[in-house]
Amino acid sequence: MTLDPSEYTLQELGPEIQTIEDIDELREILEAEKAGDDRAGAKKLIESRIEKFEGDDEEDSEIDLEEMSAADIANAVRDIDDVETLESLLEEEESNQDRSGVTNQIQNRLDSLQGSDEGEVEEEVPPEEKHPELDHPTADKRHVRALDDGTYRDMWVYCETQRGELIDVSREMLGKARKMMDNYAEEYGDDERVVAVLIGDDVERLADECISYGADVVVTYEQPELKRFQHTAYTEVFCDMARGAGHPYGRDDRHEEEWRDYDEPRYGLFPATNNGRDLSAQVQAELDSGLASDCSGLYIENNVISNPAKVRREGEKKEFERVLHMKRPDFSGFEYSTILCLDNPHREFHPQGASVIPGSFEVPEPVPEREGEVIEHDIDLDEDWFRVEITDHDTLDPGVDLTGHEVVVALGRGIGDDPTRGMELGVELTDAFEDAELGISRGIVTSSYDFDGHVEQYAAEERQIGETGQVVEPDLYIAAGISGAVQHKVGMDESDTIISINTDPEADIGDFSDYFITGDLFDVLPRLIEALEKGELNLEAAAAGGDD
Ligand code: FAD
Repeated sequence: MTLDPSEYTLQELGPEIQTIEDIDELREILEAEKAGDDRAGAKKLIESRIEKFEGDDEEDSEIDLEEMSAADIANAVRDIDDVETLESLLEEEESNQDRSGVTNQIQNRLDSLQGSDEGEVEEEVPPEEKHPELDHPTADKRHVRALDDGTYRDMWVYCETQRGELIDVSREMLGKARKMMDNYAEEYGDDERVVAVLIGDDVERLADECISYGADVVVTYEQPELKRFQHTAYTEVFCDMARGAGHPYGRDDRHEEEWRDYDEPRYGLFPATNNGRDLSAQVQAELDSGLASDCSGLYIENNVISNPAKVRREGEKKEFERVLHMKRPDFSGFEYSTILCLDNPHREFHPQGASVIPGSFEVPEPVPEREGEVIEHDIDLDEDWFRVEITDHDTLDPGVDLTGHEVVVALGRGIGDDPTRGMELGVELTDAFEDAELGISRGIVTSSYDFDGHVEQYAAEERQIGETGQVVEPDLYIAAGISGAVQHKVGMDESDTIISINTDPEADIGDFSDYFITGDLFDVLPRLIEALEKGELNLEAAAAGGDD
């Protein structure tokens, strides 16, 4: 063993452990830690490093056709490059369970390695003809009705309002769309526009504001019945706006409009709010396209793709132009995926659609003198769209108000080793300040921690900070055992000073913390509490730039 953990503090151990790649050595160090100081944080550090390499080992593990599901087998065979292994798997499957999904997957992998189809173009058979037996759960829609050789232009932005005003994410999306379409004009030489969509009651008066934030055109539709968000009615109106004259699935009486000459928008952005998520999913499905939900990064670029489903021929490459790259956090924000919505050889998918996490982009400076066009959309509302009647509405009691305090102490899943003790420490630290409240990450809300009764109340959703919780901007934010997922970040990163405590020196929260303490919260919090209670530490003053 090259490293004796007892010789290192937790802060020192993190970086050292990251340099070790030998799994057996890591296991030895873990045993030494358990036999010695047995620190929870140290064990976690070593264990997570071990897990990383175990993951690598698993990739090489054998496929057990008896035990594994068809989906798992499909994933696993993609990593196998050895033809003989694949042939023997195929034989084994055919002589035992003989599941067509599994044999197809193995055969496809074999074909792609042997290049049996190379150069041949498969004859295109529409899915509804290829699979006549398929019964789609949606009664009136059995297959994708995408356009063939359609015309697409512009970036549409659905601008949500609340209490008669634009919400911030609508302004953020307009600003981002403006930047993207300005770059687009430079890159492709085509002046396509930012089109804001306003649907509701008395919304047209917001059109100028949309233009000042970056829209070139604002399409509005207002009716008293649409005062509150209604899933079906809003979807129908939006899709009717989006489909141009002569669209095969649009209204027959839809007439040509001077301001546009295309079948569907090229791109569509929606806010990832409760209503925006609801609307975006349904609109994109109705328009037979895809949706990348909860995105926090967007850009437009060309992309070279070799996926046979997209390029027709095995081994061929094709450059797709003007592709909206939609980045979204996955695995609790530890990884980012970039989602692309690309046409198939015989099916086109537009608008390329994304919903956008509020706070992901800056609210731009409005330019009041900007000019734009306002288009009033014309469609009759159908009674059938209003099967839900809103008879009354009420605002729920928001519960604990975490805003407006000088200090917010926030706890995350780092308390997992002893949730009740962790919560007690959070409460004690909160009490050590004059004006503080205790908040939590969603990780705690969704955990199944068994808290003792006296601290259970602090694990309630009303204390959640983040995208789907409260947004706080205290002078001092202390985050203990929180990884810093983007959904948490948007609820706290406007705090004046952020101190975070985490056993993982690489935790994302370090990227937006002013002070990062690498350490176990069960060690660090008691010391902080003691120092504050004894008056040895004045964190509020330190945060304000004074003496500590
Ligand atoms: P984890 O990600 O598990 O992180 C725990 C951290 O504690 C790790 O960094 C670990 O190194 C550290 N740690 C472990 N042990 C210790 C110890 N003893 N001492 C110190 N550190 C330790 N999340 C929110 O918070 N708010 C939201 O509003 C929100 N909305 C969401 C909306 C959507 C649509 C989705 C998909 C997710 C949302 N999430 C939200 C969840 C978010 O993605 C993360 O899953 C969540 O924030 C993770 O919580 P966490 O940081 O407590 O837990």
